[in-house]
Amino acid sequence: MENNQSAGTLYIVATPIGNLEDISFRALKVLSTVDIVACEDTRTTKILLHHYSIEKKLISYHSYNEVRRIPELLQHLQRGLSIALVSDAGTPGISDPAMLFVREALDASIPVIPIPGPSALLAALIVSGIPCKQFVFEGFLPKKKGRNRRIDMLKEERRTIVLYESPKRIVRTLQELRRKLGNRKIALTRELTKKYEEVIRGTFEDVLRIIERKPVRGECVLVIEGS
Ligand code: SAM
Repeated sequence: MENNQSAGTLYIVATPIGNLEDISFRALKVLSTVDIVACEDTRTTKILLHHYSIEKKLISYHSYNEVRRIPELLQHLQRGLSIALVSDAGTPGISDPAMLFVREALDASIPVIPIPGPSALLAALIVSGIPCKQFVFEGFLPKKKGRNRRIDMLKEERRTIVLYESPKRIVRTLQELRRKLGNRKIALTRELTKKYEEVIRGTFEDVLRIIERKPVRGECVLVIEGS
């Protein structure tokens, strides 16, 4: 389908996962020149924009209001305004809302352009010491419904597995994965690019021993070797 020539552009812009300096020149250029920045939490995005002296009209777009918000954002695009979509951290669409908006924009023949940059999953993978030639990204495991089935599917997975997890649930998740997948090599990364960045490498049992003594704080990514 041809792009709508009079429409504005929707940019999907990756932003830092902690360290505000992890942002591309192009991302800053786009954020400075678009008409509107659509973001998950306006307070978080204001901190980033303020750091780079960018003042912009912000519109909130998050998982609770996206269905309601998309028609309004599409109208702006159709009127010729350009929009940058960012999330609180990392790449929009990766365990963050974006996909629905991208699909609706494409359906309306609006150009959608990626501005690539940080994502916690790749940052964790590349320092894990676990093969990263082939990997699967599982996002967050379901908390209840479907959790066992998802973990069962991972048992036979030969590629490296990358998961997001909150510090509240990490011990329980590691214990459960240890039981079901066996005592594999893993890397538990937390607070990447931030002051208390840490990577704990070893088997499930090694890592559990460490974090049972010293509880994990901050956001975590878990990298697990394949079967
Ligand atoms: N869109 C983001 C991305 O591209 O990485 C992910 C958003 S998801 C809602 C948030 C999860 O990403 C956290 O719970 C954690 O698992 C992971 N994460 C985000 N920032 C991180 C960081 N600095 N260090 C480790 N994990 C991080």
